[in-house]
Amino acid sequence: MHPTNSCKRVVVIGGGFAGVTLAQQLERRLPHDWRLTLVSQENFITFNPLLPEVIGASILPGHVIAPHRQMVRRSDVCMAQVTHVDYETRTVHYLGEGSGALPYDQLVLACGVNANLELVKGMAQHALPLKTLGDALFLRNRIIARLEQAELQPDVEARRWLTTFVVIGGGFSGVETAGELTDFLRASLRYYPRIRREDLRVVLLHGQNRLLPELPASLGDFTRRKMVLQGLDVRLEARAIRIDDRAVTLASGEIIPAGTVICTIGTSPSPLVADSPLPQERGRVRVHPDMSVPGFDGVWALGDCAAVPNQRDGKTSPPTAQFADRQAKLLARNISARLRGEATRAFTFKPIGQLATIGHNKAVADMFGVQLSGFVAWLLWRGVYLLKIPTLARKTRLFLEWNWAMFFPPDIAHLGYRRTRRASLTRGAAVDRAANG
Ligand SMILES: Cc1cc2nc3c(=O)[nH]c(=O)nc-3n(C[C@H](O)[C@H](O)[C@H](O)COP(=O)(O)OP(=O)(O)OC[C@H]3O[C@@H](n4cnc5c(N)ncnc54)[C@H](O)[C@@H]3O)c2cc1C
Repeated sequence: MHPTNSCKRVVVIGGGFAGVTLAQQLERRLPHDWRLTLVSQENFITFNPLLPEVIGASILPGHVIAPHRQMVRRSDVCMAQVTHVDYETRTVHYLGEGSGALPYDQLVLACGVNANLELVKGMAQHALPLKTLGDALFLRNRIIARLEQAELQPDVEARRWLTTFVVIGGGFSGVETAGELTDFLRASLRYYPRIRREDLRVVLLHGQNRLLPELPASLGDFTRRKMVLQGLDVRLEARAIRIDDRAVTLASGEIIPAGTVICTIGTSPSPLVADSPLPQERGRVRVHPDMSVPGFDGVWALGDCAAVPNQRDGKTSPPTAQFADRQAKLLARNISARLRGEATRAFTFKPIGQLATIGHNKAVADMFGVQLSGFVAWLLWRGVYLLKIPTLARKTRLFLEWNWAMFFPPDIAHLGYRRTRRASLTRGAAVDRAANG
């Protein structure tokens, strides 16, 4: 955290796909009198595409994260929350071990976006978002707690309420979550003799007229058909307008009673962007095609938090890991070029394709213009993510875990965070239960 006075410093804010890939690429390219500091509020990268698998208990939480210090070798790593950036004095202010300030010569914003829980009335109070590892862990625990409660509930209606799960959003994370959840509930049923199969209900709500709108229509239709066959209640053109502690109300007036509501829609800008003087475009930092921020010398932005124009099609890059990764690789070259007084390059990228699992060992894929669906697409999905997940240690663990899950029953342990109560702690059991999902 404390650079020697002679060293110039690149500070990267955010240890997600964009920030970590950039740090890995840039630390090899920096001139000898420069150092890099990666500041992030967690000390690990979260492999978000696998979070639905954590909810469905297909893999252990530790398998979807990798520590920054094992990925970024020659740089300084700092686990701290950046509170604000003073662009006049070129200083990053953070809260870590107390408050601190870090001067920069070059600054990169890679702080991603936050979940937006204001889209639907009652969402912030009653729905559970899926954005972080903590969200996935809480959801996993909530689902298992609901099964345990249902097993104890003699009243049929109350039991059905406990075992009804509504997933809001039919994009990638909504579809993958609903698929994983259904598989998990079905596989767990044998351990809960009082819960009947017909008590279980997973409702997938989607505002548009087909699932996975980012993929070709035929794959969206395939997904809906297969999910309905698996027993999911898929509602298209169904907009939630209110969520309370008992139910979800749709724009049509229908009320769906549900004990758990999961929301996978909506993002809001990071306060580091929204409250900054940086130019913005729909909540993202507006950048030049080389990812430098106009009017702010030595400031760059990429990933979900930045509106990076793609020179290939003239459109703004979508907020996906695939784009964040490619932008990071180019930005490392651009920053190193700028430090050497050379020309920078515009971002241009042709996406390779997209994949989504839909449950029951099936997936849909649109890769290199070829559309695949079913078991083959699912194998491809696994292969791709196995290759992509960072560090050899994680790859090995994930491979073993996936194979283990094919032969053994799902893990239905409710991971309590109950701690031995110390004399000074007087909070009640209700607080423990709320924290555990
Ligand atoms: C459930 C889910 C599933 C997804 N599935 C896919 C998929 O299948 N394919 C795909 O391409 N994309 C997928 N995405 C999107 C993909 O994860 C994002 O596009 C990608 O993570 C963007 O990378 P990023 O580095 O810009 O942001 P992030 O990965 O969000 O990283 C931001 C980092 O900044 C840190 N940070 C934020 N604020 C501060 C602060 N004030 N101080 C310090 N640190 C801070 C955060 O802790 C985090 O480490 C999915 C996302 C989710 C949530």
